[in-house]
Amino acid sequence: MYCLETSNLIHRYSNREIALDGVNMHVPAGSIYGFLGPNGAGKTTTLRLLLGLLKRQQGNISIFGRTFEQHRVEILASVGSMIENPSSYDHLTASENLSVLQRIHRCPTPRIPEVLALVGLSGTQRKKVRQFSLGMKQRLGIAMALLHRPKFLILDEPTNGLDANGMVEIRQLLVRLSREDGITILLSSHLLAEIEKLATHVGIIGDGRMRFEGTMTQLRQQQQTTASLHVRTTNDQRALKIMAGIGMAGVVDENGIVLPAMADDRMAAMNRQLIDAGVDVYSLSSRGHDLESIYLAMVGYAA
Ligand code: ADP
Repeated sequence: MYCLETSNLIHRYSNREIALDGVNMHVPAGSIYGFLGPNGAGKTTTLRLLLGLLKRQQGNISIFGRTFEQHRVEILASVGSMIENPSSYDHLTASENLSVLQRIHRCPTPRIPEVLALVGLSGTQRKKVRQFSLGMKQRLGIAMALLHRPKFLILDEPTNGLDANGMVEIRQLLVRLSREDGITILLSSHLLAEIEKLATHVGIIGDGRMRFEGTMTQLRQQQQTTASLHVRTTNDQRALKIMAGIGMAGVVDENGIVLPAMADDRMAAMNRQLIDAGVDVYSLSSRGHDLESIYLAMVGYAA
């Protein structure tokens, strides 16, 4: 069951340049879904469309199994969001900011200290938002998004501009919300390291298109399947034939022979065969692609 599903979302801004070029997104209920992509890839545009902050041009959006346009009010009542910079009144305290929203949402007053505690802002008392650090503002943004007890939380770059401590705190908070309250979380980030640490599922967007979507485990599997073994010998063509004879298909590039990664014992056996056949081996090296380079290749940067 998907909490959110989009099909073929296409969006053009007024300059006619295509910002989203057919985005298909599937956020499973109960997941922490990391929406990952470099700046300008289309994350904010997608999130704004999901919340009806931008007018949908083409494609479909369904949240909790319902079409967004037809059930907008009910859907938004169960969704909490923080898009771009959290918007709060600078001259008010955290608690006063939440009071403004509490009246709009008509939720009980005790919910205010509850969300303040949840995001670690209970101690701010009379401090005005103007005097808040970026991290505190970010946490207030999350508290505002959580006030009406949403089942689905959509956060655009929630750790943007935070220091390492701030990032850890937000991450821990999100994991807790997911585990303890069963809230489905969709968060965007341009940092793989951020997403990797907390997401169960990931969608990678590059140039307005979804380049990968799956579980974090499936993304890590890509890492293994793209790993390779590089062999340099005195006679690469002859070595290729010997390798083919023992069922190993390699190709020659400018640095020698490239083969799919293999277990150590197979690598040692192949080395022995080559030497026995009179081909000397200069080097054998395994190259695993790290997740970062796989990600960069997916979004169109050379790895
Ligand atoms: P991300 O959130 O991944 O950084 P955005 O969704 O903000 O990406 O941007 C996607 C593309 O749309 C970019 O090329 C960006 O320049 C363009 N874009 C974003 N907002 C506007 C706008 N208001 N008007 C015109 N182009 C925009």
